[in-house]
Amino acid sequence: MVLVDEAGSKVTFVGGVFSNHLNPVQAVIERRITAAELEALRDGEANFVDVTFLSPIPVPVRNIFAVGKNYIEHAAEFDKSGFNATSGAAAVPAFPQIFTKATTSLAGPTDDIRFDPAHTSSVDYEGEIGVVIGAECRNVAPADALGKVFGFIALNDVTARDLQKNHAQWFLGKSLDTFCPVGPWIATSDESPAASLKVQTWVNGELRQNGVLTDLIFDVPTLIATLSKAMTLLPGDIIATGTPVGVGIGHTPPKFLQDGDLVRVAVTGLGELNNRVRTR
Ligand code: MG
Repeated sequence: MVLVDEAGSKVTFVGGVFSNHLNPVQAVIERRITAAELEALRDGEANFVDVTFLSPIPVPVRNIFAVGKNYIEHAAEFDKSGFNATSGAAAVPAFPQIFTKATTSLAGPTDDIRFDPAHTSSVDYEGEIGVVIGAECRNVAPADALGKVFGFIALNDVTARDLQKNHAQWFLGKSLDTFCPVGPWIATSDESPAASLKVQTWVNGELRQNGVLTDLIFDVPTLIATLSKAMTLLPGDIIATGTPVGVGIGHTPPKFLQDGDLVRVAVTGLGELNNRVRTR
């Protein structure tokens, strides 16, 4: 495990009990270990260029929560695309649309996004800002919700549009192995407050998405309040908050991901994902 100095493009290795820990970031969240306690375990440093970042949480505690149609312009482009099996409802939902992605869809910040073209021919990117829950909680009032957040993480809610549509429930189309790249690190909410977060997505260097978290239809407190009214939230739970306008199906004709494409998702203060698309 490392501590990240983004401005200095450096990492500090955390030693001690974390030297060979299998899931150290999850342990930090669950045990509420402070930054000062981690600083005390410093064990050398390295430059970004000399390290490979992995997913900060290799195996999430359960499925990744995600939110559909949570930016107004994206809700409109999705409904117009013909890939919305749930259309007929209002373009802008009255309640948050929650779905999940399988734990096995999780991938690291530089892993390949893989699929078989015989299985899906309409793979799309969704650059998003993810919330990482910091404490077990239930029935959280919106005013208290940000206090339950450990931090934020860059995330790509990769989606097979044909499967999303054909199976009506979104679960299959959202859950292919490697379809949830996250990372490269989690920024704690004091370092990167929600109001400062902007997400941008490029495909082969072309800017496709450019959104800010403050434009969400259902903001982070509302999402936490909604989820925690139904179930206990757990430390390490990840909530993908929704994608802004500019996904592949928002273009005419649609711009689906192809073998060899490089998808880059960057979020202010959270680093960036650089995932190559591979169909072989
Ligand atoms: Mg999404």
